[in-house]
Amino acid sequence: MQSVTVLAPAKLNLTLDILGTRGDGYHTLDMIMQAVTLRERVTVRKSSGLYLSLPGSRVPANEHNTAYKAALAFFHETGLLAGAAITIEKRIPVRAGMAGGSADAAAVLVGLNELYGARLSTQELCDIGATIGADVPFSILGGTARVTGVGEILQPLRRCPPCWFTVCMPSGGISTPQAYARYDELGTDEHPDSAAAAAAITRGDLNGLCETMGNALEYSSASPDTKPICEVLREYGALKAMMTGSGAAVFGVFTQEEAANCAKQALLQRWPQCWVVRPDARGARVVGGK
Ligand code: ATP
Repeated sequence: MQSVTVLAPAKLNLTLDILGTRGDGYHTLDMIMQAVTLRERVTVRKSSGLYLSLPGSRVPANEHNTAYKAALAFFHETGLLAGAAITIEKRIPVRAGMAGGSADAAAVLVGLNELYGARLSTQELCDIGATIGADVPFSILGGTARVTGVGEILQPLRRCPPCWFTVCMPSGGISTPQAYARYDELGTDEHPDSAAAAAAITRGDLNGLCETMGNALEYSSASPDTKPICEVLREYGALKAMMTGSGAAVFGVFTQEEAANCAKQALLQRWPQCWVVRPDARGARVVGGK
């Protein structure tokens, strides 16, 4: 095999609570993450050197790129004396709180493992991924999970009840470190109950899930567009509308595809980046090889 193609899903935070701060300054979290059907498409080809391109994207293809770091970590861990030419079709918005960079790292790890027949287990891939970013193990596993610690402890949950998400990305993204710094300054009264949300998922209770959803970063990090986007989503019948991760993307939960699409059409009048997506039960996976 000379090349593989990998799809890697974005995530949405159904909950994000901040429990405290560790001695090293990292925040301890309690979150429910959901993989969704907006996916990066990553092609990994055998090569003697390491090359990265992201056609049409402004994200720099340099050594700071998560995909580049993932490839280096993979070759370091396996001891393989080889390289790769990586092409990323970027579909997940940047600085959105949707783990686009983590999805790229996950795709590269899964792709290289297949391409070079390295036979690393999913756990081993997750361990390498965790050295690149806290969300990379989730991007590898996908589905629905409760995520605690500083983002490194993952407990897979039952499938999220069937629904549609309308996702809207405002024009400006949000930097994750800045979002946490603003939280440290401003705090919040919003502390969603991830245990209750996990119980609602286990019961298959979408209404109960939506009642418990929330994001502790929304008060301090919301962009000026967050509120008006949430208002449009609610107007079209979203059971819940909120920001994902550290922002800036905002999403609504719908029981009907038609309502989700109508909300998207209404949002497109003011915000050009909108999608209707569904829960994705899987993480980064190989979809083809040549
Ligand atoms: P998260 O939900 O994990 O916090 P995010 O959506 O807030 O993710 P990303 O878009 O994943 O953030 O990454 C944000 C920053 O990381 C950007 O400023 C970008 O320059 C840098 N970066 C490095 N590699 C990548 C990559 N492959 N894709 C996107 N951003 C990357």
